[in-house]
Amino acid sequence: MDYYSNRMQTLIEELSRLPGVGAKSAQRLAFHIVNMPVESVEKLAGAMTDARKSIRYCKRCCTLTDREYCPICSSPSRDQSTIMVVENPRDLAAYEKTGKYDGLYHVLHGAISPALGIGPSDIRLKELMARLASEDIKEVIIATNSSLEGETTAMYISKLIKPTGIRVSRIASGVPVGGDLEYIDEVTLLRALEGRVEL
Ligand code: ZN
Repeated sequence: MDYYSNRMQTLIEELSRLPGVGAKSAQRLAFHIVNMPVESVEKLAGAMTDARKSIRYCKRCCTLTDREYCPICSSPSRDQSTIMVVENPRDLAAYEKTGKYDGLYHVLHGAISPALGIGPSDIRLKELMARLASEDIKEVIIATNSSLEGETTAMYISKLIKPTGIRVSRIASGVPVGGDLEYIDEVTLLRALEGRVEL
């Protein structure tokens, strides 16, 4: 398979490691890249390196940020007594887009899945419990996906929080089973939030 130069082959291989990029797309991207002006390629590569190096987890809610605390956690206008628990930063973005939620978040970076060997200690649960112990939180809204993993996680968290006396609620299940929050439209998200039930 030595149709291309070694360097071209390396580029194709590296690109094909990215999620959703198959062998064909990797080739197409590689050809596109080698035909781009060098400055544009440098800009692209620079943006990737820069993002990777500067992005970290927010010290409070664990979402991705380039600062110690993310803009939501640093905003004084957010309701500091409510935390919405989501699986990943994309779900957070989906709720932010509705513009109707003004509380804080906590990003788990995954969900409990015995089948995949992902346990409670593999997601950012410890960090959530630490927050509940140190912050003045009145309600935790569990907004994990309605997949089996999301439901398992929701149940686990609610059992963990119940003894603390903090109100725990779960977003309404109008959300299609297995549906990723990020693909659901804003109206459905809002309905799920407003129709949340106490656990
Ligand atoms: Zn934050």
